[in-house]
Amino acid sequence: MPFTEKEIKKQLLDRGIHDGRVLAVMQELPREEFAPPELAHFAYRDGVLPIGDGQTLSQPFIVAFMSQEAGILPTDRVLEIGTGSGYQTAVLAKLAAEVVSVEVRASMSFKASRVLRSMGLTNAHLLVGDGYAGWSKGGPYDVIIVTAAAPSIPPALLDQLAYGGRMILPLGTDKQTLWRVTRKGQVYEQEALLPVKFVPLVPGESIVPTPDPTP
Ligand code: SAH
Repeated sequence: MPFTEKEIKKQLLDRGIHDGRVLAVMQELPREEFAPPELAHFAYRDGVLPIGDGQTLSQPFIVAFMSQEAGILPTDRVLEIGTGSGYQTAVLAKLAAEVVSVEVRASMSFKASRVLRSMGLTNAHLLVGDGYAGWSKGGPYDVIIVTAAAPSIPPALLDQLAYGGRMILPLGTDKQTLWRVTRKGQVYEQEALLPVKFVPLVPGESIVPTPDPTP
């Protein structure tokens, strides 16, 4: 059961999602596959869904908005920080040439990896690690999307943004704002986009490793 026309209009079109490629991907991607089975029937509601360990599957509008504001081209290479359920990763994989997604919680990365593989999204590479460091080996990236809020921009991510690249990230603690940072040579332009509420980007060493639940 994908999004109905009515929900696409209410959640996306009426709020300023106008990019045809983003809208098409949102329409075709089964969000329920990324939700816990007991919450699958809420998959097309206008909100976040809990995915365990205090983490959330992002609101459809936010996923669409971040993708649209990054201006993703089919040839772009994308770095995502915070794989979570893998839903935003899947959207990015459908819009871009390649996605590298770093997740600090190993069990979440493994679960998301299975879902993405089952959908044949082989251009998404899921890594377990601390997103504060990005993944320099795969850089520079045309687009960087951060799906958890830091107090300030992690310097490694600025380094790994390509010339002309765009980074979309929430910053702040209590009050958060979604920003777009565009790299023009050594100059980084910052634009505030939207007030938002994301889970915090936590330092990697504060996470206790949990084993893969379904080996
Ligand atoms: N877009 C995702 C949202 C996931 S919530 C979705 O729709 O499912 C944010 C994710 O960031 C969580 O999975 C959390 O574990 C992860 N995260 C938090 N701190 C991190 C860090 N330092 N490095 C990598 N991932 C981190």
